[in-house]
Amino acid sequence: MKILNYPHPSLRYPAVPVTKIDERLRTYAKEMIELMYAHKGLGLAAPQVGVPFQLLVLNLSGDPQNRDAAQVWLNPVILDKKGTVEDEEGCLSFPGLYQKVRRAKTVQVQAYDINGVAKEITASDLASRAWQHEIDHLLGVLFIDKMGPVGKLASRTMLKDFERDYAKAQEKGEIPPDAEIEQELAALAATA
Ligand code: ZN
Repeated sequence: MKILNYPHPSLRYPAVPVTKIDERLRTYAKEMIELMYAHKGLGLAAPQVGVPFQLLVLNLSGDPQNRDAAQVWLNPVILDKKGTVEDEEGCLSFPGLYQKVRRAKTVQVQAYDINGVAKEITASDLASRAWQHEIDHLLGVLFIDKMGPVGKLASRTMLKDFERDYAKAQEKGEIPPDAEIEQELAALAATA
């Protein structure tokens, strides 16, 4: 398992709800937590590792080393949003790209824990931002979609670089053609 960079099609594939919590799902979650800490992220969504499931991991402590803070959530839904705040945001699928993104200051989320128990969570500020960012991933929505016009313009060169690197890797056969990836995603999604 590894983190996929933009513009890998998995990042745009809408994740399907998890319907069974089994050993495979627990292994995905464990490996995603490892990757999140290895890359000093505060969250990681399954589509970022090529798994089209509504599964995400979070470390809301604000300390990228705090391993005790790891959380696993399934099938999250935002029930309510309040206020807005603009702040700098990054994404493990866009290494080195940081731009301001406007998000709700507070969100109320419903999600299932790894034991399948439904929970309601109220999150504010950094935690709220992380929840919104990761839930967006499950919908195939990326933080570049949420940037304002200035951020979008400032990101253009880096995005072109990511797109060029991806095309090169495909030419070299390091990444399969998009049609093949889409087929694999659909096959995996059917097993959620
Ligand atoms: Zn992200």
